[in-house]
Amino acid sequence: MIKNQLKILKESIPDEVTLVAVSKTKPNTAILEAYEVGQRDFGENKVQEMVAKYEVLPKDIKWHMIGHLQRNKIKYMAHFVHLIHAVDSLKLLLEIDKQAKKHQRIINCLLQIRIAQEDTKFGLPMTEITNLLASDEFKQLEHIQIVGLMGMASFTDDFDQVRKEFKALKEFYTTLDKLPATNNFKLDTISMGMSGDYKIAIEEGSSMIRVGSAIFGVRNYIA
Ligand SMILES: *Cc1c(COP(=O)(O)O)cnc(C)c1O
Repeated sequence: MIKNQLKILKESIPDEVTLVAVSKTKPNTAILEAYEVGQRDFGENKVQEMVAKYEVLPKDIKWHMIGHLQRNKIKYMAHFVHLIHAVDSLKLLLEIDKQAKKHQRIINCLLQIRIAQEDTKFGLPMTEITNLLASDEFKQLEHIQIVGLMGMASFTDDFDQVRKEFKALKEFYTTLDKLPATNNFKLDTISMGMSGDYKIAIEEGSSMIRVGSAIFGVRNYIA
């Protein structure tokens, strides 16, 4: 079942779009099924759950932290996390940098942009991103690298609205991409699109989609 869903999904998306299989709440057996047919990028939204899975599953899995992050949890995943999608403050970046330094690595991060019309407390408004990137504190960070942006569209079946939000994210990405690349800022990723809207996201320029239920089936609880 999982293998089949994955195959159908893979065939329907362009090769250059990275598929992150969102395995939150799903057991290791489900992850291994996807792994067996070549899936290597997996997304989790809780640090403890991701660490527990990392410890027992194959070490060539690339673990994506896609959830809202608390600063005190970063230390548990700093040695292995592949990409952090939902960075929404300079404070968080400072802590990621500090923990990455302890492991002598550079952690790749995406800045989460607030694009949804609906009320959400997650993600930074575009204007604040520009300030963050221009700050001296940011410029001094040596153990993080901003590689792109992440956004979540409104949870609605108004697909025109969803498309408008993805378009706005892509436009902002294009603007930021004109800034000179530095040691900790070099864009190549737009993470947008989930099970319900990844087709629109790809049409609007997504390079990375985060798909859970369309691969693994519906989750038992909202995570
Ligand atoms: C759960 C989750 C997804 C995947 O959602 P589906 O609708 O199951 O594809 C994608 N992104 C984030 C940030 C999530 O929390």
